[in-house]
Amino acid sequence: MKAYFKELVVNTSERFQVVNITRMVEEVVRESGVRNGICLVFAPHATAAIIANEYEPRIVADYIELVKQVFKPDYPWRHNSIDNNAHAHLASAIIGASRVFPVKEGRLVRGTWQEILLVELDGPRSRHVIVEVMGE
Ligand code: ZN
Repeated sequence: MKAYFKELVVNTSERFQVVNITRMVEEVVRESGVRNGICLVFAPHATAAIIANEYEPRIVADYIELVKQVFKPDYPWRHNSIDNNAHAHLASAIIGASRVFPVKEGRLVRGTWQEILLVELDGPRSRHVIVEVMGE
């Protein structure tokens, strides 16, 4: 079994932002030489998330609106007394900081409307995304 590890850097520019990292991840899968296996996409951060879904301006705005409505940045969360980003920790905890994809015949398998998206919840920041491709 092969295991190929790569760390990508993604600089965000907004407090809330959705960055399409699909091409970067697919490039890592190509580089890895893995034909059949799995691809882990993991953000080692407590205030960001990884999702696999459509990347279209209206739904992207809706993802951000949903995060704001559900996790309420202005609510007096206890953690806000530390660094004012409780909503980002809560959203990251619930949405998740990783996704796993199948790799088949050298290509990452995903649905037509499943782009791989980094969700910035407390930017702007420099984010790291670990991509590990494992298989034969
Ligand atoms: Zn915090």
